[in-house]
Amino acid sequence: MAEGATPLDGVDTVLADLDGVVYRGSKAVDHAVESLTAAAATHRVGYITNNASRTAAAVASQLSGYGLSVAAEDVVTSPQAAVRLLVDVVPAGSTILVVGGEGLTSVLEEEGFVVTRSADDSPAAVVQGFSPDVGWVHLAEASYALEAGIPWIATNTDWTIPQERGIAPGNGTLVSAVHSAAGRLPDVAGKPETPIFQAAVERFSATKALFIGDRLDTDVKGANDAGLVSVLVLTGIDGAKQVLAADARSRPDFILGDLRELSQPYPAVVEHDEEDVHVVTVRDSSVAVRGSVVRVLSAGTDPVDLLRAGAAAVWGTGRAIYGLDVDPALHAGD
Ligand SMILES: [Mg+2]
Repeated sequence: MAEGATPLDGVDTVLADLDGVVYRGSKAVDHAVESLTAAAATHRVGYITNNASRTAAAVASQLSGYGLSVAAEDVVTSPQAAVRLLVDVVPAGSTILVVGGEGLTSVLEEEGFVVTRSADDSPAAVVQGFSPDVGWVHLAEASYALEAGIPWIATNTDWTIPQERGIAPGNGTLVSAVHSAAGRLPDVAGKPETPIFQAAVERFSATKALFIGDRLDTDVKGANDAGLVSVLVLTGIDGAKQVLAADARSRPDFILGDLRELSQPYPAVVEHDEEDVHVVTVRDSSVAVRGSVVRVLSAGTDPVDLLRAGAAAVWGTGRAIYGLDVDPALHAGD
């Protein structure tokens, strides 16, 4: 990357996850709205959500409520990605057994599919996404239908879904219930699988897209696998501890404290060797590695710079985190 370049330089499309990036609970994340609005002046900005219970229009209206300028076509949902998979495996106009809510049925009906809730209607495929109304009867019908060996597509397999009152079981738990009965696994459309990222890249005609997420195992891994520039923003789920421990496929290209840094020069990671010590420096933060021991030399002024240096140091060892003696000061804020 060129000296003084920002994460936005060299990309034409900015894609963002929602929870932990744009909002947390019912409140906007600090600096997210003004930073994404500023990015939209120079870049195509789109939003990606694994949550299958809401339509793109409902998501756009929620985001507009925070002050963002968002239309339904700016939002890519996991049901939309699931339909892309579905059209490859069943004839147009087929009857589809749906486990899920309006976010899913509306997309299928728009594409000309017939929605059923009963295995007795000989569906051509099962499509499963989260809705708070899903119950045992729906899961049982899916299990009966899958006995015929028809395709099974899940919008996503998130184990949890954040709700206003706390963390609740996500679509992955409901898919797992059907899996237990059917003895098979579905194809998955949402993050971290690539179909949802491909759907976004196609929709926005992106030549080089950047994806911002708050989770390494879904957002960053998925963006990396799909060939997108990956950004982890530390306003959501994952923090320093998870960054240091990230496996090679889940390491972000950029680590940001908040979204203001999208348009700020990203600091260089400078590495040099002093005899048997490898030193990694980011601005006034530096970290030393000797063998399996990783120590903070200078904490510096910005904890995100220290994390950037620490992550580069740990990742550069080529060893798993549990094989290293890592300075606890590197994740003191967690
Ligand atoms: Mg998130």
